[in-house]
Amino acid sequence: MDVTKGNITIAGAGLAGALLATLLARQGWSVQVFEKRPDPRLRAYEGGRSINLALAERGLHALRQAGLQDTVMAQAVMMRGRMVHGADGSTQLLRYGKDDSEVIWSVHRGRLNVSLLDAAEAAGARIRFGTRLESVDFDARRLLLVNDHDRRAEEVDFEVLIGADGAGSSLRAALKHEMELGERFEPLGHGYKELEIPPGADGGFQLEPNALHIWPRGGYMCIALPNTEQTFTVTLFLPSEGEPSFATLPDLAAARALYRRDFADALALIPDFDADWTNNPTGSLGTLYLDQWRLDGRAVLIGDAAHAMVPFHGQGMNCAFEDCVSLARHIGEADDWGAAFAAFEAERRPNAQAIQEMALENYIEMRDQVDDADFLRQRQLERILADRHPGRFVPRYSMVSFLRVPYATAQARGKIQRQILVECCAGLSSVDQVDLAAADALVRERLTLLEQD
Ligand SMILES: Cc1cc2nc3c(=O)[nH]c(=O)nc-3n(C[C@H](O)[C@H](O)[C@H](O)COP(=O)(O)OP(=O)(O)OC[C@H]3O[C@@H](n4cnc5c(N)ncnc54)[C@H](O)[C@@H]3O)c2cc1C
Repeated sequence: MDVTKGNITIAGAGLAGALLATLLARQGWSVQVFEKRPDPRLRAYEGGRSINLALAERGLHALRQAGLQDTVMAQAVMMRGRMVHGADGSTQLLRYGKDDSEVIWSVHRGRLNVSLLDAAEAAGARIRFGTRLESVDFDARRLLLVNDHDRRAEEVDFEVLIGADGAGSSLRAALKHEMELGERFEPLGHGYKELEIPPGADGGFQLEPNALHIWPRGGYMCIALPNTEQTFTVTLFLPSEGEPSFATLPDLAAARALYRRDFADALALIPDFDADWTNNPTGSLGTLYLDQWRLDGRAVLIGDAAHAMVPFHGQGMNCAFEDCVSLARHIGEADDWGAAFAAFEAERRPNAQAIQEMALENYIEMRDQVDDADFLRQRQLERILADRHPGRFVPRYSMVSFLRVPYATAQARGKIQRQILVECCAGLSSVDQVDLAAADALVRERLTLLEQD
């Protein structure tokens, strides 16, 4: 499309909104963004809490398109694999990839958002903070905006509207008045609570810094991701009901007792446990499925607004960033807005659903299987087959995290590979007993070479 054809309005200047604004402004579009929260760059640094995210190749690729790779990577901590903490205090590193060329990165959510806002404005996008999208008149192409601070309301016209306003999207709510979105929200039935491991007495990391730490405990788990300030953000994932659950932790003493029993080595590193537990909210988790992401050429949803997912593959942001690259490309290539939004949705919706499903599966793997003998044997064989069949047998985690093959492809090939691993390991007590010639034959028979960009 010709950039003189219109102005683009984006609701939400979070991770996806700010990146999309950057990509579109760099294409020459006139971009206006409305963000309900105040400008994070004007607030004094809020010491203490540091929330981080795992950044992988899909997200990195998108940041490269926006010229942000160096800025973001300067603030990132490498994570080579999962450091599994057994109930007996033992630790074992399970690498994500074959070597340090296949790793993921822990990045600070707040700082990443600030870098994206700076880039969007530098590219020419206009961002108005403290301005919440309240409702939309799609026929008149007019928005109602509200400033939650002084309660001022105003109406502004739009030409096309993009909803990057997160899981609780107001644009999605407005679209529901116009059309049947087929919205389904499936709560996970598990919540989360964030805590912090500060630097040690010597100012250094108290755990191995280059890993994503996991304390798997069957139906629940704790994880910890490193921050550049030598701290770790710890997240407890626990059922909302049942035993143990957030419902059965009525007070601090009960929470401490759970930690003493199940995560004693982590508890010893969290001096402010009481304050963290009391002050940090318990978050809820779930998956949002929609059958429609757009209203003809007038409006479209991206990121969590379209497909919020549980965080266990560390892909929500990565997927949202991939959405931004895809939508910007389709807007650049299509003849009109309707065609651009339709092509975007056709490309991304099946892939979003695939990663949503894989993220749910990964919760079970992380909390329940990473210390299971069968699972570990299959992982060993997976590595062996990946080495014997490069480009053909590619572990699913690698396809999702280190490559940009469509999520749906990773999911479909992952199922075939899992079946091969299960068949080849059945009844064996060691990976040395696997009949590799038979395994090779299965790989060649069932898997084609993986096509990549
Ligand atoms: C515990 C947890 C851990 C996670 N870990 C990872 C991880 O390791 N890796 C990963 O890739 N992903 C992770 N995610 C997922 C990731 O946080 C989201 O997928 C990502 O933030 C989605 O970006 P977004 O821009 O779509 O939404 P958001 O980041 O939520 O941004 C939405 C923006 O819209 C604004 N907004 C909302 N309503 C309005 C309105 N009415 N008007 C104007 N503005 C509005 C909000 O203030 C916000 O700035 C995790 C999520 C959780 C909950």
